[in-house]
Amino acid sequence: MANVMEIYQLLPKTNCKECGKATCMAFAVDLPGRKVKVDDCPPLMNEAKYKANYEKLLEMFGSVKDVTETGLIVHNEKCIGCGNCVVACPVNVANDPLGAGSGKAPTSDKVIFKVEDGVVRARNVQECRRFGDNRILCVACIDTCPTKAIEFV
Ligand code: SF4
Ligand code: SF4
Repeated sequence: MANVMEIYQLLPKTNCKECGKATCMAFAVDLPGRKVKVDDCPPLMNEAKYKANYEKLLEMFGSVKDVTETGLIVHNEKCIGCGNCVVACPVNVANDPLGAGSGKAPTSDKVIFKVEDGVVRARNVQECRRFGDNRILCVACIDTCPTKAIEFV
C-alpha cells in the first residue's frame, strides 16, 4: 500500500475542491480508508494530462472484483475453511466472547469472519480495525491464514 505522500504525488495538487475536500492532501489521506473514491476527483478522471496517474490510482484503489469497502478481499478459491481467521480477528473475539473469542464457531452476528459451507464469509467489514478514523494496521487475519486467502488492497 502506498503512503499518503505517494498518493498525493499522483493527484492534481491544485486544491480545486471539486472533490468536496479542502485540499488534495486531505483527499490523499482519505483514499486508503476509502472515505473517498478515485472517481470523486473530477479533474483526475476527466483531464487527459492526468490519465496515467488516474490509471495508477485506479490500480491501487479502484474496484477490484469482490473487494469490500474496507479493501478486504477473501479469495474464496484459496480458502480451506480452517477457521483460523475466525478466532484470530480481534473484532470477532471482542464481539463474540463465547464463540470466536473462545476458539469456537461464532455465536454472534456481529463477527467479521464466519465459515459457511466450508468457506469463510466476510460481513460487518466496517468493524475491521483497518477501517475508520482510528484505524490500525491489523494483520491478525492475514498472518493466521495458511493459504494466503485474505488480502487488503
Ligand atoms: S485486519 Fe484485523 S480487524 Fe480486520 S478483519 Fe483482519 S483480523 Fe479482523
Ligand atoms: S484462515 Fe484463510 S483458509 Fe482459514 S478460514 Fe480464514 S480465509 Fe479461509
